Amino acid sequence: MELLESAAAMQQWATAQRAGGQRIGFVPTMGFLHPGHASLMALLRPQVDRLVVSVYVNPLQFGPGEDLDRYPRDPEGDAALCRDQGVDALFRPPDLYPDGFSTSVSVHGLTEVLCGATRPGHFEGVATVCARLFGLTQCQLAAFGDKDFQQLAVLRRMVRDLALPLEIVGAPLVRDADGVALSSRNKYLSESERGRARSLHRALFGMQQRAAAGERDVAALLAHGRSLLDADRVDYLQIVGAEDLQPLTGLDPAVPARALGAAFYGATRLIDNVAL
Ligand code: AMP
Repeated sequence: MELLESAAAMQQWATAQRAGGQRIGFVPTMGFLHPGHASLMALLRPQVDRLVVSVYVNPLQFGPGEDLDRYPRDPEGDAALCRDQGVDALFRPPDLYPDGFSTSVSVHGLTEVLCGATRPGHFEGVATVCARLFGLTQCQLAAFGDKDFQQLAVLRRMVRDLALPLEIVGAPLVRDADGVALSSRNKYLSESERGRARSLHRALFGMQQRAAAGERDVAALLAHGRSLLDADRVDYLQIVGAEDLQPLTGLDPAVPARALGAAFYGATRLIDNVAL
């Protein structure tokens, strides 16, 4: 596995691979890798000739007072996991943006709701870093997890709208044995917070069960979800159209719907979602 530690090194490597006719797959991450990240690598590995993983904690997508400065890091563990997954190049730049960087990418509509409502600028940061990473890696396929459902929708829209020459692949959410969605941020949780964090997926699955049993009324589904949710603060619990992410008032079998939640356990904000 090659370790690439600058944007220029990444670009050179990718250009050489593409000149040799290699198909490049890419998994962008912020590191502290876990089996959720590994699942994205495993999904792409058989579909590409060269697999690139980036580890970069992108300051543009963190707001003031968020956890940029304490985001967990494990460079050795990350490299070992990538090697195990047959990654060809690990792109781990200390800085990603050139001097005078002055571009940002905004995807309107999808980014004002859900996480975007309480994290202004977050998805702009995500779209901007991904646009730059797609350029540097020259990838033809890039994988993102359903765990960050809104992020996946935003990036699909960006790639479509800007006609970027790559395909976005979505991957199922990977959970711990007790149902909690795997996340690098789970490391922040105390034992009691980790115990209560199970209530987030319980609330979502509870809503999923009621919907499967025939409940169509979104207010009733949300009331049920809230009754199961034991968090220090609920950022949102919502049911939206899976394509446009706009709130629904009722379920319609013809319209795919998604239930999403974001909640704080202590100072840690966790997100999760399920299909309805
Ligand atoms: P992050 O390092 O948290 O920015 O995540 C990098 C990528 O891994 C994103 O596409 C995430 O959606 C994906 N990811 C993170 N956690 C999970 C999980 N539990 N299951 C599936 N994908 C995940």
